[in-house]
This record gives sequence, C-alpha cells and structure tokens, in this order.
Amino acid sequence: MDYELAIIGAGPAGYSAAIYAGRSGIKTIALDKGLGGGLGVISPKIENYPGFESISGLDLMEKIKKHATKYADIHFNEEVNNITKSKNEFIVKTNKESYNVKAIILCLGTDYRKLNVDGEKELTGKGVSYCATCDGFFFKDKKVAVIGGGNSALIEAIFLKQIGCKDVYVIHRRDQLRAEKAYEDEAIGKGVQIIYNTHIESIIGNQKVEFLEIHDVKTDKISKFPIDGVFISIGEEPQNELAKKLNVKLDERGFIITDDQQRTNVKGIYAAGDITGGLRQVVTACAKGAVAALASTEALGKKYPY
Ligand code: NAP
Repeated sequence: MDYELAIIGAGPAGYSAAIYAGRSGIKTIALDKGLGGGLGVISPKIENYPGFESISGLDLMEKIKKHATKYADIHFNEEVNNITKSKNEFIVKTNKESYNVKAIILCLGTDYRKLNVDGEKELTGKGVSYCATCDGFFFKDKKVAVIGGGNSALIEAIFLKQIGCKDVYVIHRRDQLRAEKAYEDEAIGKGVQIIYNTHIESIIGNQKVEFLEIHDVKTDKISKFPIDGVFISIGEEPQNELAKKLNVKLDERGFIITDDQQRTNVKGIYAAGDITGGLRQVVTACAKGAVAALASTEALGKKYPY
C-alpha cells in the first residue's frame, strides 16, 4: 500500500505530526504497536498543557487522537518490524502489511525504566506496577510505596492517596527530590511520607508483594519494609530499536539526534517526541511532531511555509 508519509508511533508527537501532515495534503499513515497515546495515557493528572487546567493523560490523548484521525489513517495494534530503503522509498513492514512511503517520522517514545532488582520481574502484576492510574485502584485501603523522586513519582503518590490508599510512601535514593516543589508540597500536604537516602535491594513476596528490602545509605542499615504494592516510577528509556536498524544517530543515552527541523542524519527520516530526548512534555512532543511533519514535506518535494 502506498502512502507519502509513515509516522511510527501514535503518542502526542505522532498525533500532532498526523494533524499537520494531513492538513498539508500529505497522504499519511500512523502506526502504533499498542493502543496509542504513548506513556502520556498513564498520567493521572496533566496541569500544564495549555487550554486544560487539569485533565487526565488518558482524556487528553483521546481528544488528540480524535482530532488526528480526521487527517490520517491511524492503525493501532500494528507493530513495525522492519524498515528498509529502496531507491527513493522506504518499505515499512508491519506484523500485518507492507507500506511504501517516501518519508518517515519516528515517534517511538520511551518505556518504563526498570529497577533491575530481585523480585521485580517475578512480582510484576502481583503487587509491582509501573502505572498508578492502571493499577492503583487494587490498593485502596492498602499500604503502597512509589519508588523514585521525579515529577511522575510524586504525581503517582498524590493520585494513590487520592484514590484511598491508606499509607503512601515515596522512597527516593537521594536526600533531595528531583520533582518540582509544587508537587512535593502537594504530596506532603496530602499525607504522603517521603523516605530519603534509601535504595531498594529487592522485592520479596510469595505470590504477591509482602516486603521491600531497603538499604538506608546514610546508616548503611538494611531492613524489611512491609508493603502491599510497589509503583516503580524512575523514568523512562528510549525505544530506539528501529532507529538503530536504520543507522539513525543516537546520543550517548540512546535518544535520536535531530536538527532544529527534526531531521535525523538519514535523508527522509525525521524524529519527534520523547525519543528525541530533552524536555519530555506533551506540549513539546506535539510541537516537535508539528515541525517534523512540515519539514518532511521537503522529502516529498513539496513546499512548506516556514
Ligand atoms: P525523571 O524526572 O527522570 O525522574 C526519575 C527519578 O527516578 C529521579 O528522581 C531518579 O533519581 C530516580 N531514579 C532513576 N533511576 C533510578 C534507579 N535505578 N533507582 C532508583 N531511583 C532511580 O523521570 P519522571 O519523573 O518519569 O519524569 C520524566 C520527564 O517527564 C521529566 O522531564 C519530568 O519533568 C516530566 N514530567 C513532567 C510532569 C509535569 O506535570 N510537569 C509530570 C510528569 C513527568 P535521581 O533524582 O537521584 O536521579
């Protein structure tokens, strides 16, 4: 099947690129291996996307998706397995179809970073989670810990308190949070308890989480911390496998390097959103998606008003 442009990944960057490309008269397909929306869908509360004082990530992504589907064919649950170059075209092979396109925008996003401690993998889904919005409800009236010290960890902790978890702890490895002060104040105000200077050594439980083995790095004491649920919120890793196959240049942390037009080092391939690193916000992902879509018109031999 022929399209002019393929957008790989339908998170905010991909949706925004689809809107701008479609409105520029470019025949566009967007492909997502899951249900779309990227990691944004798990955010319980977004309060800094202009026009929405407070909205859940899921609601915001649904609105953006509805908008984008007016302008592009968007296929969900269709995973891109390979992209090859042939003359002036790219062949995009998915688990369902093959598409010939002239330009590609990689909006591959990021995935949850893992703690890589004993018990994490075995107890995932049995008390270990990476998504408070998805799984928090199961821990109503229970004792839970959020691991991490960034904005996401604090927002998840606030959300868990809000939905009725009895005791909510944030366990952070350093003596200072990375999160914005406003989130720290809100969490403390709602009764979230923050434990500093503490590493997670392992997650212990028989069929379900029972204890965390924690290491207080100030006292060098290792102890058992009884807990019902653990939400790991320690950042994200770029999903860069397809970019690597295409010899797209990455930085030392694995994010795609682009110029200010979202062009990668490979002609005809652009990248946008969290996969390009930097400030990883819905608003910046949308902005980069728009720039990539307009810049990709170059590869299609068309003009764009820049
Ligand atoms: P983040 O800002 O990168 O924070 C990750 C946290 O996890 C840090 O506190 C880090 O500790 C800790 N960490 C990392 N690896 C660890 C490990 N192996 N063991 C223990 N702790 C570990 O990630 P994020 O909170 O997911 O946020 C990602 C991006 O989205 C950020 O740019 C953030 O500002 C943005 N965001 C914004 C909002 C908003 O409303 N403004 C909401 C959510 C996210 P250290 O501090 O010691 O490095």
